[in-house]
Amino acid sequence: MPALRRADPYEQPAWRALSRFVVSRDGSCRQCGSSYYLSAHHVIPRSEGGADHPANLIALCGACHRREDAARRRAA
Ligand SMILES: [Zn+2]
Repeated sequence: MPALRRADPYEQPAWRALSRFVVSRDGSCRQCGSSYYLSAHHVIPRSEGGADHPANLIALCGACHRREDAARRRAA
């Protein structure tokens, strides 16, 4: 098992709390309505200055999250 990257912001307690808040606020995937494997997604990515703030976060299911991240990498 690889060592935990200490600097990974997604491993920080503050992010976990924020992600839980966004998931409970939205309740289901904002793209497809699924409630499986929900997690918080940055509308404006961190790499473009997007904030870790509920106003910049939406709940996405696992499938939509992967698709969004893949689309973002292609666009970069
Ligand atoms: Zn979805």
